[in-house]
Amino acid sequence: MSDKYEVVIGLEIHSQLNTKSKMFCGCDNNAEGKEPNSVTCPVCMGMPGTLPVINKKALEWTFLLGLALGAKIADQFNFERKQYFYPDLPKGYQITSQTTPPLIGGHLDLEIDVDESRHPTSRNSLTIEHVHLEEDAGKLIHAGDHSLVDLNRAGTPLLEIVTNPDFRSPLEAKLFMQELQRILRYLGISSADMEKGHLRCDGNISLRPVGQKEFGKKVEIKNINSFSSLERALEFEIKRQTEMLDNGETIEQETRGWDDAKNITVSQRSKEMAHDYRYFPEPDLPPVVPVKAFDLENLKKQIPELPAQKRKKYVEEFGLGKTEADILVGDMGLANYFEESVDMVKTSEGSQNIIKRIANLILGDVLAYLNANNQNILNFKINEANLWDLATKLESGEISSKIGKEVFIAMAETGKSADEIISEKGIKQVSDTGELEKIVSEIIAANQGQVEQYRKDVEANGSSPMLNWFVGQAMKATKGQANPGVVMEVLKKLLG
Ligand SMILES: [Zn+2]
Repeated sequence: MSDKYEVVIGLEIHSQLNTKSKMFCGCDNNAEGKEPNSVTCPVCMGMPGTLPVINKKALEWTFLLGLALGAKIADQFNFERKQYFYPDLPKGYQITSQTTPPLIGGHLDLEIDVDESRHPTSRNSLTIEHVHLEEDAGKLIHAGDHSLVDLNRAGTPLLEIVTNPDFRSPLEAKLFMQELQRILRYLGISSADMEKGHLRCDGNISLRPVGQKEFGKKVEIKNINSFSSLERALEFEIKRQTEMLDNGETIEQETRGWDDAKNITVSQRSKEMAHDYRYFPEPDLPPVVPVKAFDLENLKKQIPELPAQKRKKYVEEFGLGKTEADILVGDMGLANYFEESVDMVKTSEGSQNIIKRIANLILGDVLAYLNANNQNILNFKINEANLWDLATKLESGEISSKIGKEVFIAMAETGKSADEIISEKGIKQVSDTGELEKIVSEIIAANQGQVEQYRKDVEANGSSPMLNWFVGQAMKATKGQANPGVVMEVLKKLLG
């Protein structure tokens, strides 16, 4: 990227709320897999003479998000009509709360580990301009030379989160979207699935010469449907606009669509065609006074521990690395599973090692098993207590890591505890010192050359890599059933 220009990016994000019913009627809000136009009623089909009724849950969840993002909740706001004509909007207007939004301000703090030479002005606190609540429109399905209308989506509660132009790189925009997705999921208010259109985003981007205060002409990019396309669309625009500015060309304010297959943005419409929506307060709905409708203090208590707090806790209290913490926190199910397994760990010496072992089991064996078997953590058969027990057995050396793998797979397949598997399979960990001394003595007697090497090393360096070789021989002789810790002690004693 050229260092002559500074990139300025803002986002407009739409998130569908997964309430039971729609925003202003009692229709089922989950239309997945249902026939087109089968979850509709006169209200969401825009029939004359019908009256909207506000979905209280949608309001509550809007405020919940506001509290989670540190936004100011408006003293009062209106629902209003935004007039425009489109075939998927039979009323001829959309009910929104755009001009008197329920949430003002707010921020999302990210720990951004970026290459500073590429992103010199990276910010950690990204701020939100406002959030408003509205109804989604229906959908047009284009089929050859005609289009079909499906109104199942019409009236779905939709939050629009409008950020300030705080982002200075496409990466920041992507990280923000990903963290917002986690927060929406942790709050349980949206499935926030971009592939299904439950989370959508438009990006506004402009360039300005470094040091200039005024913003350049902004281009709005629409039709972004994945985190990767968000980043690529913004990267493309930076390149396109940089080249234009370098050539002395003027950038027009316009809307461009992202073509994911071609990896380019394409001009859709210029500013001249901008709508005048003629907003006015919805006459059929009263103004909303949040403090009258809700106990906001109580609502605040319902906010669960959010990803940022969890990450901090995993690193500072549990001693995990940042990457490990990131992966666990990335999936709320995985994070809960981890924490419930950790809850079993008694606070005692060595408990942090067990916690780390639990994390490693989850990030290694558990994730690999889930991927290979197309399962997710919610239907995974090893419960938290059994995972903790397995981690404890591995940590104490009661079972070797090799046997541990075998036991793990059997546990994952049957849901049984480690003890049950061990006794069923006849796996016996040999920890008996007398028995192991006999085996180790035989190995020593048969490998005098290695013994000499070991003693030479120890004399010169105080230790020898041969020790591990001897442990390996003992494990082989016992078919992996020897307790490696005891073997180590016996070897040190007998090798002198
Ligand atoms: Zn309806």
